[in-house]
Amino acid sequence: MSQYKHVALIGLGLLASSISLAMRRAGMKARITGTARSKATRDTALKLGLVDAVFDTAAEAVKGADLVILCVPVGVMGAIAEEIAPYLTEGCTVTDVGSVKRAVVEAVNPHMPDGVHFIPSHPMAGTEKSGPEAGFASLFDNRWCLMTPLESNDHATVERLKVFWGALGANVEMMEIDHHDLVASVISHTPHLIAYTMVGVADGMNRVAKTEVVNYSAAGFRDFTRIAASDPTMWRDVFLNNKDATLEVLGRFTEELLALQRAIRLGDGDFLFDYFTRTRDIRRSIIDAGQDTNAPDFGRNKEES
Ligand code: NAP
Repeated sequence: MSQYKHVALIGLGLLASSISLAMRRAGMKARITGTARSKATRDTALKLGLVDAVFDTAAEAVKGADLVILCVPVGVMGAIAEEIAPYLTEGCTVTDVGSVKRAVVEAVNPHMPDGVHFIPSHPMAGTEKSGPEAGFASLFDNRWCLMTPLESNDHATVERLKVFWGALGANVEMMEIDHHDLVASVISHTPHLIAYTMVGVADGMNRVAKTEVVNYSAAGFRDFTRIAASDPTMWRDVFLNNKDATLEVLGRFTEELLALQRAIRLGDGDFLFDYFTRTRDIRRSIIDAGQDTNAPDFGRNKEES
């Protein structure tokens, strides 16, 4: 299946820079053009060699591209789609890396001209870091990229994009749009909200000094702070655009939390033990699936040595 000849990256942060580095690692020769909101990001991307050419506007960056990847926060995807629509090459594929799919489809698809294929994607890979310097070539290795094709997408075009994500290191799976949003809410969005909340709780507790929170954080809290350091713009947009699934999962979460709270109050050790045994099994399954390390402390000491 033929490779793309010209890939345009709209937004040049963590995801876009990782795509560029993974493309080069895979030996893809495509011309890469790009744009970002600020001149500072555009200049950095050019200096790092992430793009062959950088443009002040998305409209200029997409000219002649046969693959356009929207790597901006979910809340601006619609405006970008409207801007680039008149400049897209007939027959080109447009995809995105947004963490939410239904809202992105509704914002982007109405702007897509006839003869342009919009195929939504979500590479489920990331870190709490942002910007063009945060990317790395192995970000997608053995991570899942969920594609949520539209009924109007033709098979060959979807397959071609699937091959592209595979070449970047990802395992690719097709998923229905709303089901994607529910799955993403369970495994990513709501956990982020809970981490933000826990860090907020610690920050707001006046009986525990800030220095105590910082100095003794290794006991579990530190892992929440890593997640809670994620980009505020990106995550604000995720929650505003995946409202229904987040509220559904949060409702379930609140019920379970109350059940645990009640077990603690009643001294129901069996309930707590059984619950924690079940959750430990899930952790084991994730490690068995190669989606995390089994090293103590998440392999931190190994990385630091
Ligand atoms: P990021 O590092 O913050 O980069 C976002 C990029 O978008 C920046 O280059 C920013 O430019 C640019 N941008 C923002 N508003 C723009 C606008 N109006 N016009 C043009 N460019 C604009 O974010 P990221 O982590 O790569 O996330 C990008 C997308 O990937 C989001 O939709 C997110 O939901 C999704 N995603 C993220 C992760 C993750 O863990 N981070 C994982 C999977 C998917 P400036 O630098 O000039 O502001």
